[in-house]
Amino acid sequence: MDNYFDRVRKVLLIVLMSNLILGLVKVLYGYNTNVLSITADGYDSLLDALTNIVGIVAVYISGKPSNAQHRYGLTKVETFASIMISCTLFLVAYEIVTAAVDRFFNNIIPVIDVSTYAVLIITLILTILVSRYEKKMGEKFNSDLLISDSEHIKSDALATGIIILSLFFIQNGLTILDPILSLGISLLIIKTGISIMKTNLDILLDVNIINCDEIAQEVRQIYGVNHVHNIRSRGTKSSVYLDMHLVVDNHLSINQADHISRSCKNTLYAKYPEIKDILIQIEPSRGLYDEIHYKDIKNKKYSF
Ligand SMILES: [Zn+2]
Repeated sequence: MDNYFDRVRKVLLIVLMSNLILGLVKVLYGYNTNVLSITADGYDSLLDALTNIVGIVAVYISGKPSNAQHRYGLTKVETFASIMISCTLFLVAYEIVTAAVDRFFNNIIPVIDVSTYAVLIITLILTILVSRYEKKMGEKFNSDLLISDSEHIKSDALATGIIILSLFFIQNGLTILDPILSLGISLLIIKTGISIMKTNLDILLDVNIINCDEIAQEVRQIYGVNHVHNIRSRGTKSSVYLDMHLVVDNHLSINQADHISRSCKNTLYAKYPEIKDILIQIEPSRGLYDEIHYKDIKNKKYSF
């Protein structure tokens, strides 16, 4: 768990530095040239830096060991922080819409030259690179927080892209295209926000994390296991809790049954390093009577 925190913190520190530098450059440049949208974009990057600090604190807390009050650990602090990040996506969408409406009603004519485009295009490229890096690391370390944050950074890149296009349109007298384009992209950002929120709310509601069919297949191969049922998994992608019922021969001693249960656990811990704890209920043949048959089979994950 310490390793996980160190890795995610390192990625967040890199993203934090990039947000600080890009934010300061955009704010200063925006003030010097009176291009309001660049200043606003810069403040957005500075706010993102603040989000990164919240993320670092959240990952630090979620990596703390379990205690008397929180015996399953504190990993869901990271899930909660991811939900907060999805809310910030709605804020970005709101900012783009209000900027578009402003442009629509007030004919702002900023002073635009080649250096304006150069600054914006360089920040756009850097933003896209940081977003892709963060997403790649999020997938590598199974971190929902990094994946959510990378989606936020991607939406910032879209916002910068809109500014470049709208400046170009304004220069060429096509002012009407700017608000239309902005509204379309805001809808995309809102869609991403809803999708991140849904994924993380599901985790808070203990959605099944590991495919139960796969677990059953592994366990059935272990010598002495007659049947396995009521498999459940919950937690976050990087920290999973698993439980199940294991039916063994009626005449086995507790020692023999425990031996089978330990073999199952060792096999599963080796195959799924994200599993933090496994609880196995050993049952004689009558244990089959409490098997739960789930009706919802639209997703194979829920069939056990
Ligand atoms: Zn049972």
